[in-house]
Amino acid sequence: MYYHFTCSTYLKHPMIRWVILAVIAITCISTPIAPGNEPDKVFRAGAYAIDITPLELPVLVNGGVRERTANEVHDPLHARCLVLDDGTVQLAIAVVDSCLIPRSLLDEAKALAQKNTGIPTERILISATHTHSAPSVFACLGTDCDEKYARWLPGKIAEGIRLAQKNLEAARVGWAVGRNETNVHCRRFLMKPGTALTNPYSDKRQDRAQMNPGHGNTNAIRQTGPSDPAVTILSVQTHDGRPLALLGNYSTHYAGAPALSADYFAVFARIIGELIGAEGEKPTFVGIMSNGTSGDANCYDFTRAKRRTYDHVSVGRDIAESAFEAYKAIEYHNWAPLEMREQKLVLNIRMPTAEEVTKAREFMKTYAGRKPQNWQEVYARETVLMSEMPPTREIKLQAIRIGDLGIAAIPCEVYGSTGLAIKAASPLDVTMNISLANGCEGYLAPPEQHKLGGYTTWRARSSCLEEMAEPKIKAAMVGLLVDVASADRS
Ligand SMILES: [Zn+2]
Repeated sequence: MYYHFTCSTYLKHPMIRWVILAVIAITCISTPIAPGNEPDKVFRAGAYAIDITPLELPVLVNGGVRERTANEVHDPLHARCLVLDDGTVQLAIAVVDSCLIPRSLLDEAKALAQKNTGIPTERILISATHTHSAPSVFACLGTDCDEKYARWLPGKIAEGIRLAQKNLEAARVGWAVGRNETNVHCRRFLMKPGTALTNPYSDKRQDRAQMNPGHGNTNAIRQTGPSDPAVTILSVQTHDGRPLALLGNYSTHYAGAPALSADYFAVFARIIGELIGAEGEKPTFVGIMSNGTSGDANCYDFTRAKRRTYDHVSVGRDIAESAFEAYKAIEYHNWAPLEMREQKLVLNIRMPTAEEVTKAREFMKTYAGRKPQNWQEVYARETVLMSEMPPTREIKLQAIRIGDLGIAAIPCEVYGSTGLAIKAASPLDVTMNISLANGCEGYLAPPEQHKLGGYTTWRARSSCLEEMAEPKIKAAMVGLLVDVASADRS
């Protein structure tokens, strides 16, 4: 038997589509808007940070293997909202202090926001910061959803977007890229054969990769991929230089803080405001830090023999200082075109086999009547829960253009290599990737990383897309960036 390859057969292959799109993207150069050479249109911006700290405690907290509850508030949680308007297109971006937010909750928030603001849902981007010290609105691993908080949250996000829109005023925008290598390191390591952690209730056997191998582990050979040290910023201010908002993007997982806390994301938001002299401004300046491509990166540097000293405050300050260095060189545009595209993609889910489900059900009898307490118990339950899910999933991707800045929004925990590839292929001057945007569809390991196994590839509700999802999403994402970069509204 032989296969007859037609041109369209090749185009359907995600790797080939990716190469073609990358070539198109590199050769498609968007027209830069020179400062002072802008159309006679008014660009407007408005921002608002709405408090989303739960009104009642305790709450369930996700992000760990086992379920936790929080009884106190270390620092408040916010949904940090920004509305931009170029005179033709109006769009909203909201970054929420939460670990993982499912698409259904965000779709509800967007529908409410559309009702109150007129901004169509497909021009609203909402992402989670991925703080691991916030109320759970998504059941994953050993933690259930805090249903009461999850019911309350969509209305608050929508209200934040409405209040940001209410603050719209004439504004100018600029963007820049700084670097901070100190706080982002690949956390997955290739291990000597037979030394990586394994999981009898995952779809991986003979794992070669391990997350967080510890300092000085002689079985750890090397990191499995690159991390992205960019600190990308969008600055929004009035024409006389009063800061309105600054959206930052950095690719470390989180820093760690006592629950409830917005982690380093809130520290960044406060300190960048202080550094740029935004204190006491009315309406209040809104600093925002979004999560880049941190699926395989965190603040630890396991290539060193000893743990360095850091916490969420030092990480937030460090990254704010790197952002401030880049901020000093920003060239502002009194007007910049806005474009936004949304695309839905249907992907397969890695379903467990009947045999795997039977084995997991048998094991679950040994801890019936209580929550799972360790990796094995958690992943056995995940196997059973996964078997009850639909075998395909529709996911939502978005791309935004603000002048020569591109934003790629992906509903997954994206690896550094994927983010760097999207940035390299983007036709826009500067591109930031926002992870966990418009849903939470789990870790997005590239196919070659699936081969290595390890925690972020193990099948669970928080890691369940097909092994070829990454090249498909990457190709679609670059296609959307090409669309927004080449859109002609003249
Ligand atoms: Zn995480």
